[in-house]
Amino acid sequence: MSYSNIIKNKSIIKNDYRCNNCKCVKKGKPWSIYDYNGIKKLCSYICHTKERTIHPVWDNLVNVEDFENIIIPNFEPVVETFYFKTNLELDELTDEEYTKYMNMREEHYSINPERAKLEEKYVEDENYIDKLENISL
Ligand SMILES: [Zn+2]
Repeated sequence: MSYSNIIKNKSIIKNDYRCNNCKCVKKGKPWSIYDYNGIKKLCSYICHTKERTIHPVWDNLVNVEDFENIIIPNFEPVVETFYFKTNLELDELTDEEYTKYMNMREEHYSINPERAKLEEKYVEDENYIDKLENISL
């Protein structure tokens, strides 16, 4: 990581921030921080997967140290990037897509189990929020 990135990273951590994707105001360190047309912050893995305005994602990442063990897609363009899906997203898959998803999920776990577990936990939290939203309707 470059020195300028370290400085940026430190000054960002202390303050509240607004997630670039869901627009929620959050405290603490963002899940991911980008330097792309100004500093952009994302609050969670879910917002990271939904964010479509930052390209290419990995080249603009500031808090690289949080992602050290993750496979960086830019280095292996053939590899399809795997993202965990929420229950709502899984419901929309065809049988074929679902099988493919489950195979990719297994592969993703085998590459880095700890990271995968953490990512899946974020998706479970999102499932819980979806459930709450459905109840209140
Ligand atoms: Zn967010």
